[in-house]
Amino acid sequence: PAEPAAAAGGEGCDATIDAQSTQMRTALQYKAASDQEGKNCSNCAFFVEGPKGECGNCTLVQGPIHPLGYCNSWAAKT
Ligand code: SF4
Repeated sequence: PAEPAAAAGGEGCDATIDAQSTQMRTALQYKAASDQEGKNCSNCAFFVEGPKGECGNCTLVQGPIHPLGYCNSWAAKT
């Protein structure tokens, strides 16, 4: 599979998710393209890496998570 799109929208990470998951993503203002310098899902403590070139997951936010995404619960990976 191709690398996940880095552009806004994060195509490939937009798998169907249920309403509850959508609500959580909205509440934490998850976005598929981080606008925070040096901070993105791939260096967040809660990120769970997916197969190479594909979206991962997050222990807080349900649904597919783009490695270059971001949300308000970002915490530095230690
Ligand atoms: Fe990305 Fe937020 Fe999950 Fe961290 S907590 S991996 S920033 S969605």
